[in-house]
Amino acid sequence: MEQKMKAVVLHAPGEYQVELVDIPQPGYNEVLVEIRSIAICGSDPGIFAGKVRKDGWPPHYPFIAGHEFAGRVAAIGEGVSNLKPGDRVAGEAHSGCGTCEMCKQGLYNLCMNYGHSGHHHYGHAHPGCYAQYQVYDQKALTVMPENVTYDEGAMIDTGGTAFNGIRLIGIVPGGWTAVIGPGPMGILLAQMAKAMGSKTIVIGYRDHDRLSVARELGVDHTIETTEVADVVEEVRRLTGGRGADRSFDCAGAGDTLDELIRMTAKNGKVGVIAYPKVPTTQEALYYMVKNQITVQGVRANPNCSLPLLGMIGHGKVNARRLVTHTFPIEQTEQAFDTFINHKDGAVKVVIHPNGEEENE
Ligand SMILES: [Zn+2]
Ligand SMILES: [Zn+2]
Repeated sequence: MEQKMKAVVLHAPGEYQVELVDIPQPGYNEVLVEIRSIAICGSDPGIFAGKVRKDGWPPHYPFIAGHEFAGRVAAIGEGVSNLKPGDRVAGEAHSGCGTCEMCKQGLYNLCMNYGHSGHHHYGHAHPGCYAQYQVYDQKALTVMPENVTYDEGAMIDTGGTAFNGIRLIGIVPGGWTAVIGPGPMGILLAQMAKAMGSKTIVIGYRDHDRLSVARELGVDHTIETTEVADVVEEVRRLTGGRGADRSFDCAGAGDTLDELIRMTAKNGKVGVIAYPKVPTTQEALYYMVKNQITVQGVRANPNCSLPLLGMIGHGKVNARRLVTHTFPIEQTEQAFDTFINHKDGAVKVVIHPNGEEENE
């Protein structure tokens, strides 16, 4: 194997370039992955721009970001028991220490040893996937079904977070699920909710293209907020006056959490996946208490890869349609521009750092 690889290396806030760096070597329990597909996450532009350094992302420069990927096992380190060279794998961002109170419950997204003692948060606190190769703890990788492509596998981290939200508050079969935010996560979540027997509503703001993709993928109703007088009233109208049984915030913009609480049915539940940007009003909190509504925070995607890969493999969730653009790693800047500015109807933008091959 050649000893150098191409990687997108961050050198300072907003400063990055594609350059040749050493291929990392897998240590104990680690796997070297040849990255086939990298999906740009909504959080990546902030990490690239140095806007989340208060959270330690990135912890230092130079740094390789990126956490949504799929690839092929190139080599394994000592102690790796579940993977072998050639395996096709999908990755996730969090890998826990394995021994703390949270990890022992399977909640490695909440590992108490964040950033040390064997915990990894790839692409945030530890080097990530904007490269031709990267090493991962074997716990961060899941073998993909034969019929799932690398591009679909790169959607597992985003989709897994949506799945975690559903697992935490459930879906009501025969009921209604409302989702604010028609990005990849919101559209994946709506497809899962529909597959579980709920009617679905996806809500967007100045996002006609993405809402039409949502409808194409089977979402029952979409609401463009600029076209209705009151989005809460519109959800109540669609649901026969009762509101949505389950509501999810996949946008985190403006007062979306307030709206979500108020569009939720009595005794319903709200899953908050995106970080709220404005304080919740007393009016919404009053409504929450009066109507016995549960508001559940959702972080990342522990143990969600396998079920979601299954849903994609079984044809219950269409992740492929959401990949609207692909670029080689040399065009990372163009890929980011396309993703950030929703150019040409962009939904999910994927980078192929090792060229094209069949079944991508
Ligand atoms: Zn992500
Ligand atoms: Zn832990």
